[in-house]
Amino acid sequence: MYYLKQKNYDEFTCIADKCPENCCSFWQIMVDDESLSKYEKMAEADDRIRNALDIQGKCFRQTDGGCNFLDPDGLCHLQRTYGETALCDTCRSYPRHVEEFENVREYTLTLSCPEAARMLLNDTSPMELVISEDDEDEEFEDFDYILYDKLTEAREKIKNFVQDRSIDILTRMKAMLVFAKELQEKLDDDDIFGMDDVQLMSGETSDSDPLKTEVFDSAFEFERLKHISSVLFRLEPLHDDWMDIAGGIWDKVFSDSAELEKVKALMERHAVPAEQILMFFVYTYFCGAVYDDWIYSKIAIAVYSTIWIFCMLYAGGGDCAAGSDQITGTFSHNETDSLIKAAWSYARETEHSDVNLDLLEGWFMDNM
Ligand code: SF4
Repeated sequence: MYYLKQKNYDEFTCIADKCPENCCSFWQIMVDDESLSKYEKMAEADDRIRNALDIQGKCFRQTDGGCNFLDPDGLCHLQRTYGETALCDTCRSYPRHVEEFENVREYTLTLSCPEAARMLLNDTSPMELVISEDDEDEEFEDFDYILYDKLTEAREKIKNFVQDRSIDILTRMKAMLVFAKELQEKLDDDDIFGMDDVQLMSGETSDSDPLKTEVFDSAFEFERLKHISSVLFRLEPLHDDWMDIAGGIWDKVFSDSAELEKVKALMERHAVPAEQILMFFVYTYFCGAVYDDWIYSKIAIAVYSTIWIFCMLYAGGGDCAAGSDQITGTFSHNETDSLIKAAWSYARETEHSDVNLDLLEGWFMDNM
C-alpha cells in the first residue's frame, strides 16, 4: 500500500480555545456506531452526555449553532473529562482528510480548519505529498486502475505547471481549465490513452487549436465569471453569514469589470498562497474522478474556489490596502491573515456539505 501525505501533515496540532472558529460550531457532527454505543453507556452516569446525544439522529445536539459538548471557554467537555480517546471518529480525525483508492491512501489537512489553513498559506514552499509504502495489499471491486493511473499522471503535469512560479498565476489557472476540458473530452470519447498526449498550454506559446485558445482567453472574462459565480447563491448555507458573503461578492466584484480586474491584481499580489489553494483542491479532489469520471468539475472547483476566496477578501476589504473587513471581523488586519480567514470561511461552506460539493460539480459540468 502507498501512503501519500501532505507535507507537514503530522505537525498539525489543534489550537483549541485559541481557534477563531472551532470545528464544533455550525456543523452537525455525525457519530459513528461504535462511539454511539460507548456514549449510551457513559450517558447513564453523565447527564451532560445524556442531554447532548441524539441517539436516533446519530449526532450531537446543538445549541445556538454550537455542539452541546462545547464549553464556554471553547474546549470540549468530552475531551476535557474523558481524554482524546473518548472522541468519536469525526472529532478525532478532523481536520485530517483521507481519500481512498486501491492500495493507495492520500491524506491532506482540510482548508476549513483555521490552523490547517494558516499552516498551508503561510508556507511559501511548494505543496507536496510525501510518499511512503508498506506490505499491505487490498483489492477494490471494479476499481479502474488504468484511469487512476492516467489521473495521477495528469495530476503530476498539473503540479509541475501550477508550481512554476515563472508563469503568472492567472495564466496557470486558465491553462488548468483548458487542460481539464481536453482531458474530459478524451475520457468522454473513451480515448483513455489519448489522455497521455494532453499538455498544459501556457498561452505564451500560441496554441494552434483555436478552440483551446478561445477557452483560455474567455476563462476569466467578466460576464462568464459573473454567470459562473451566480451559483454561490444556490449553495446550502452552512453558516448564518453565507448569503451576506455571497451578496457582498456580487455587489462589489460583479458590479463592474474594473472591480474584477482589481481581484485579479490581488491574486497576482498573492500568487504563492493562490497556488497553495489551487494545489490543495487538486490534491484533495482531482483523483476522485476515478469514481465518477468528472475530471473538469474537479479542476473547475480548484480554479473558481481560488477566485472566490480572493473575491471574499476583496469584497470584505475594499481595496484591501488594509485588509480589514466584515469577513475578517476581529481576526486580523493583516492582508495575509484576512486571506487565510477567507479561505477557511469558504471551505467551511463547501467542503463539508455533499449537497454543496455535488451542486458545484454539476454546475461546472453544465458550464464547461
Ligand atoms: S477548527 Fe482546527 S484548530 Fe479549530 S478547534 Fe477544530 S481542529 Fe482545532
